[in-house]
Amino acid sequence: MEQQADIFYRELPKVELHAHLNGSVSVRTVEKLISRKPQLNIKHDMTAIGKGQRRTLDECFQVFKVIHQLVDTEEDILMVATDVIKEFAADGVKYLELRSTPREDNNTGLTKRRYVETVIKAIQQCKNEEVDIDVRFLVAIDRRNGPEVAMETVKLAEDFMLASDGLVVGLDLSGDPTVGHGKYLLPALQRAKNCGLKLSLHLSEVLSQLEESDLLLNLPPDRIGHGTFLHPEVGGSQSLVDKVVKNNIPLELCLTSNVKGKTVPCFAKHHFKYWYQLGHPSVICTDDKGVFSTDLSQEYQLAASTFGLGPDAVWELSRRAIDCIFAPETLKAQLKHKWEELQPQAFQ
Ligand code: 5GP
Repeated sequence: MEQQADIFYRELPKVELHAHLNGSVSVRTVEKLISRKPQLNIKHDMTAIGKGQRRTLDECFQVFKVIHQLVDTEEDILMVATDVIKEFAADGVKYLELRSTPREDNNTGLTKRRYVETVIKAIQQCKNEEVDIDVRFLVAIDRRNGPEVAMETVKLAEDFMLASDGLVVGLDLSGDPTVGHGKYLLPALQRAKNCGLKLSLHLSEVLSQLEESDLLLNLPPDRIGHGTFLHPEVGGSQSLVDKVVKNNIPLELCLTSNVKGKTVPCFAKHHFKYWYQLGHPSVICTDDKGVFSTDLSQEYQLAASTFGLGPDAVWELSRRAIDCIFAPETLKAQLKHKWEELQPQAFQ
């Protein structure tokens, strides 16, 4: 049976701003995918990192490759996206920004355009079914694919920003942080910014990226994913911190992901503490709820128990996340109203 404390975190209305679609696939959905493709001989333990387990970042990226093998048709993407959206809704997430890297597959006829269209279709289907969640989409650039693909991705995102009825709101930069250099991606990111796409960039996820982080912070991005090694205590620098603070760039922080991916040694040493104590906008997120076997309620509970946050502080943390969303101000106001309505229920 759920404890009273667990119920509070489930009832807490939440905003999820850092969720990679294929990293968010649940065990239940993986089962359906495996039964569609038994010939691949993929086992459950190849798609998720269980409780108490840790992997290197490199090993985590191998897991995504396995999931990509399972998700390679429009039907798969539609099922994965609708399942993921409904699971976030069931976890009390009221506003979700999903991100995903458009892929093409010559064997199945999947194109990058159809990929994005299919995610949008899933969002619209959930809306038509009145699932209680507002969902937006960030088109992702995988840094491993270099500047030309990055520019193509920006153009695709630009088209959809204009033609998706406000569902495509921005761009994500992700992929293996040890591959490539952000300086080559600057023209694509600058173009995205100029055309009105919001930018969420994975930044300083590993220690060796100080110069790159400095360059990318000059854009500046609208939000930062992880930012694990920005601050001086862990090998970053005060000037990086100053840039983040001066531009008031919110951070998307994913506790379980960083500990399981071994970029942070333990929860108590997570950089949430640094940024939260600074009073800087910090949003708790899941990153890859399927791969890291977590959900957003658990992540809030983990932050609270690790850093000694009481219910009022947790409530504020979730409410302040609304200010960091990429959707328009009108929606922010509606969400704040929703939080007010739901407060008595969460605290009863
Ligand atoms: P997808 O874009 O296929 O929906 O989601 C999986 C992809 O998201 C991965 O292949 C990788 O490019 C990106 N991704 C997921 N989690 C992380 C992370 O923690 N760090 C980085 N840099 N990229 C990630």
